[in-house]
Amino acid sequence: MSDNFAQQRQALISLIRSKGISDERVLEAMAKVPRHLFIPRSHWDEAYEDYPVPIGRGQTISQPYTVAFMTQLLDVQPGQKVLEIGTGSGYQAAILAEMGAEVYTVERIWDLYEKAKERFEQLGYTNIYPYYADGTEGLPQFAPFDKIIVTASGPLNYNLIEQLKPFGVLVAPIDDEWGYSTMYKITKLPQGDWVKETYPGFSFVPLRKGTE
Ligand code: SAH
Repeated sequence: MSDNFAQQRQALISLIRSKGISDERVLEAMAKVPRHLFIPRSHWDEAYEDYPVPIGRGQTISQPYTVAFMTQLLDVQPGQKVLEIGTGSGYQAAILAEMGAEVYTVERIWDLYEKAKERFEQLGYTNIYPYYADGTEGLPQFAPFDKIIVTASGPLNYNLIEQLKPFGVLVAPIDDEWGYSTMYKITKLPQGDWVKETYPGFSFVPLRKGTE
């Protein structure tokens, strides 16, 4: 997409690459999605900075590096069924959609859900299915999923592991005891047990129960 922000977007991609993200499919998707269209106009000058930006209701669009890191861990393939908990601005869902996934995304705050849904329509994403619900329940009516990504921090959620296919992957920030989050990558094994990899030192808004 060519717009006034194309150059800034390219600089951001170079920065993310220099921070160690090497999956070209992730970098390509991030080079395509116009991040400024996912945040309020009053913050457009920060749209391509590598930090989180407020999107209203006390929530933020995640730091671009964090989006890239989680997406790289998730390793989505075209056609895979992916569940995202925490639609927020819709940016992460758009990245997954650009990579060819079928994206089911859940948000618990009505205004954010509505705004994201409108953006998906305006930008022409037909492979994103937004839902207004408490994502801690997962989305059992559409399970099982190839991949699940959680974009708010909380305890490890066994409901979500249950909704994965065999060899499915869950990527989620899990609260640590110092107020930060450790990124977990959980791979479900065919017998139902699972293995995990962990990456400490992330910062996220909290996962909350219920809807508002
Ligand atoms: N993926 C988002 C990040 C938004 S921040 C983006 O790309 O912009 C995390 C979001 O998770 C917030 O919008 C918050 O309201 C939402 N959230 C928190 N707890 C939730 C829950 N239980 N179910 C669904 N969404 C939740």
